[in-house]
Amino acid sequence: MDKCGTPCATPKKRVRVENFNELKLSPSLARAVSDLGYVKPSPIQAEALPILLGEPTDFIGLAATGTGKTAAFGIPLLERIDPTVKAVQALILCPTRELALQVSGQIDLLGKHKGVRALPIYGGAPYGDQIHGLKRGVAVVVGTPGRIVDHMDRGTMKLDQLKTLVLDEADEMISIGFKDDLEKILGSVPEGKSDTWLFSATMSREVRRVADTYLKSPKMVQVNAKEMLPETVEQIYYPTHESNKPEVLCKLIES
Ligand code: AMP
Repeated sequence: MDKCGTPCATPKKRVRVENFNELKLSPSLARAVSDLGYVKPSPIQAEALPILLGEPTDFIGLAATGTGKTAAFGIPLLERIDPTVKAVQALILCPTRELALQVSGQIDLLGKHKGVRALPIYGGAPYGDQIHGLKRGVAVVVGTPGRIVDHMDRGTMKLDQLKTLVLDEADEMISIGFKDDLEKILGSVPEGKSDTWLFSATMSREVRRVADTYLKSPKMVQVNAKEMLPETVEQIYYPTHESNKPEVLCKLIES
């Protein structure tokens, strides 16, 4: 990482694509994007995809949930996967089980024509299925940092074939208390063989410190809150107790 003060990495010439065809995606990824009904890249996708589909590089994407950031890293990460290699080639770290499941579902949709699925690995779930999945030689793992470190310590997850490490919602992971686990994982990534892509809604001092320590000359893209996907996604929340969640969800689906 360049020790170049604030801002630590500035976008130089901005390349922005207007549609997915310009990206020359492989046929399986292009088909998955079309199946999902994505017509125009969102602002973060329009700027991040040309970078992440290009030469290997570390990366910082300042973008919140609802901006389409999952596909911004999911598409290039899947393009790099060799489905014949039975080892973890991409690891996506998320702050919560819910986000890990959501991201894993999205990777499954994007990877379906390539035959690549993601394995979600999070705390609070039994180890058996996770170990079984890892032994099968899954290519993409989406997990929470604490449980990932557990698997690394037990020797049930190896990162020696890793090509891409994604930190999704890095600011949240740090504020939840996953900083030590994050640093342990970042320190175990095979040097020179794997790229680290950090996504965060905010560039807090702690996020910057992690980026300064572990990312090498990252390229950076920033989208502001106005550049979300408001026309396609309506966001509503209903406060409820954990135990009532399934019932509330069923009522919403019914209605
Ligand atoms: P994310 O910010 O990744 O959680 O994405 C928010 C929502 O936007 C998800 O439901 C995505 O499926 C959807 N989405 C992502 N990219 C696009 C796109 N280019 N066009 C339309 N919807 C999209």
